[in-house]
Amino acid sequence: MEQVGGFQSGFHAKKVKREAARWPQFLICRHDCQEIIQLVSHVSGEVEFELCKIEAERMARVLLEAVNESDSCLTS
Ligand SMILES: [Zn+2]
Repeated sequence: MEQVGGFQSGFHAKKVKREAARWPQFLICRHDCQEIIQLVSHVSGEVEFELCKIEAERMARVLLEAVNESDSCLTS
């Protein structure tokens, strides 16, 4: 079976202490957050992506906005 990207292939998110960051040098955070969110692949069991709580909330908001956007931009 072909692997597809994104959540359909199976990810879960978990909150961990900043010290537990997998790639602290690449962590998306400029606010000294003490907790970060990691996306873990169910397939590999590996952390695929991580970012701090504040950035995770921002990203969630951006995604929700996109989902709920009126489709006027598609029809124009
Ligand atoms: Zn942060």
